Amino acid sequence: KESSGRENSVAKIRVVVRKRPLNKKETAKKEDDIITVSNNSLTVHETKLKVDLTAYMEKHEFCFDAVLGEHVSNDEVYRVTIEPIIPTIFQRTKATCFAYGQTGSGKTFTMKPLPIRAVQDLMRMLNQPVYRDQRLKLWLSYFEIYGGKLYDLLSERKLSPYSKYCLHVLEMHVNSWLTNKLLLSRKLCMREDGRQQVCIVGLQEFEVSDIQIVKDYIDKGSASRSTGSTGANEESSRSHAILQLVVKKHVEVKETRRNNNDNNESQGKVVGKISFIDLAGSERGADTIDNDRQTRIEGAEINKSLLALKECIRALDNDQLHIPFRGSKLTEVLRDSFVGNSRTVMISCISPNEGSCEHTLNTLRYADRVK
Ligand code: ADP
Ligand code: MG
Repeated sequence: KESSGRENSVAKIRVVVRKRPLNKKETAKKEDDIITVSNNSLTVHETKLKVDLTAYMEKHEFCFDAVLGEHVSNDEVYRVTIEPIIPTIFQRTKATCFAYGQTGSGKTFTMKPLPIRAVQDLMRMLNQPVYRDQRLKLWLSYFEIYGGKLYDLLSERKLSPYSKYCLHVLEMHVNSWLTNKLLLSRKLCMREDGRQQVCIVGLQEFEVSDIQIVKDYIDKGSASRSTGSTGANEESSRSHAILQLVVKKHVEVKETRRNNNDNNESQGKVVGKISFIDLAGSERGADTIDNDRQTRIEGAEINKSLLALKECIRALDNDQLHIPFRGSKLTEVLRDSFVGNSRTVMISCISPNEGSCEHTLNTLRYADRVK
């Protein structure tokens, strides 16, 4: 039956590392590239100082399912990570792809093209006669988790003139990014039904009919992720952005009416899905000693969610019956992707420069523990 398909031979959990090239700033500062890649392993060359201040080199070697060097294109990343999973989506599989790493290591650069390529492949499959007859449709949603709360990145909110005025006043006196959070993106809440299904109440889902629509949605969602005139990217590094592509079987209206307050099922029965998650900057988890209270709270939340994520993936890998998804909002939201038929790809992004050595080692150790 299902298990005999070639598609299902794709490993349940894969950990891939991607190294970005040195950027202009790092090159200008004559920073060394301290990462060497060979096949599926890599070495970090760390410069350390002895007590008498003479320098010596310490080598750290790591091995993963795949290591992608600085010359690897986004297309190649797709081929290695997502392409093999696509057929499983039609076999009741819930797949998740994470981009993990410090801010500036290439998470967004890596993640952004993946759902676009995935939609191309998913649509091609949907148009095959075998699936076309099943009346399957593809849906997209895009939201973020910030400070342990959920926000829709694609909700359209019409503002009254008074709200616009409030927005303006807030923007002048508080913080424009926060203002946008409060007034523009819609806060969502999560609910569980009795069947281990997570339901995000109010989350907008859009039917995907062509590739341009997907590009527009991604641009729009990414923009609401980092709006605000001050420190935009700075702030987006503190949230997890989750883009979901869901294949659903269209069901008759009569049948849907029973669940019509259950928005995840309102447009049909879920066949399979894939979630693309651009995680918060891993270094943000250490913001717990910052002077600013808000930053501290956010840092603690990020730390908690990245730890919980690691624990869940490890539990999955060991085929544990109990998955500790209650550890954080992130893992709770992904609950249904951690049970049953699941596929997980972790893409750990690393910076090559000497100045990032400590963060890079932290990222690689995290990836190593997940494996
Ligand atoms: P993050 O999302 O992890 O904070 P970004 O994806 O924004 O990092 O990447 C930081 C910068 O590095 C961006 O300007 C991006 O274009 C560039 N960059 C990242 N990865 C690569 C790569 N593999 N090749 C070329 N440029 C890259
Ligand atoms: Mg980013």
